[in-house]
Amino acid sequence: MNQKYTLHTHTIGFDGKNSVNEMILKAKELGFNTLGISNHFIVHPEIKKCPMYPYSVRGGYENIYSSDFDEVLSRFIPHYEELDKLQNSGIKLLKGIEVDFFSDWQWQQKFEKAISILKPDYIIGSCHFVKYGDMLLNSHDWAKADTDTQNILLQSYWNNVSVAARSGLFTWMAHLDLPKKVNLGREQKWQPFEEKAVTAISDAKIAMEINTGLYHPDCYEPYPSPRILQMAKDKNVPVLISDDAHAVSQIGRHFDDAQQLIDTFNLQKFIMEK
Ligand SMILES: [Zn+2]
Ligand SMILES: [Zn+2]
Repeated sequence: MNQKYTLHTHTIGFDGKNSVNEMILKAKELGFNTLGISNHFIVHPEIKKCPMYPYSVRGGYENIYSSDFDEVLSRFIPHYEELDKLQNSGIKLLKGIEVDFFSDWQWQQKFEKAISILKPDYIIGSCHFVKYGDMLLNSHDWAKADTDTQNILLQSYWNNVSVAARSGLFTWMAHLDLPKKVNLGREQKWQPFEEKAVTAISDAKIAMEINTGLYHPDCYEPYPSPRILQMAKDKNVPVLISDDAHAVSQIGRHFDDAQQLIDTFNLQKFIMEK
């Protein structure tokens, strides 16, 4: 039977297209028993100097980027209050968060403080950015770089994923082979890096998502690729399916395809404690 819950979703006020209420209605219509809302928590003092930041302003989703923790808390506190008010909507509604991990101790200290205030039900670990010199570059910038720089960026990416997994801060790690978004990192030479990341996830006893946001005709597969799913099997990493829905129409997308992969690789299923 397919997974009847979705925990990786985004809403209005961040970079989603629909309100929490609209997401609840759609999830119920699909027969889901649980909906988790996990908006972006991306905080870094340099984040608004990123090459991609002007694009986010033009696209109207700059709200997901904060230069300090007070700013991000001022967005999440009212958002979580709204989720609290919608607790009796006929579906189990969870307070999630998708966090971009930065590996310096000051970030981690402040992050832990913010989490002690917000008390989310679960925390998704993501790495959308790589530090390069004093710049933060996201996947669209990786795509534009020359080959040598791309190699450096991807190595940093995978190292960051491993450190994030080992930090103990996260319930599961998101879209593991994110470079695939811009058609990078597909070669066999990246396998040892992937292996290190999956080992870190396994050692930390956390989970990994099968993110169905990528499926398109040219690349009909989720994050992560079958190569990584085999590692998840070998290292007993539990998995859950995430639609990464930024709109009601994306809730539950490709869950059948992802379920087939879970069956094929005989993967262990993640169980939410809350
Ligand atoms: Zn993400
Ligand atoms: Zn997401």
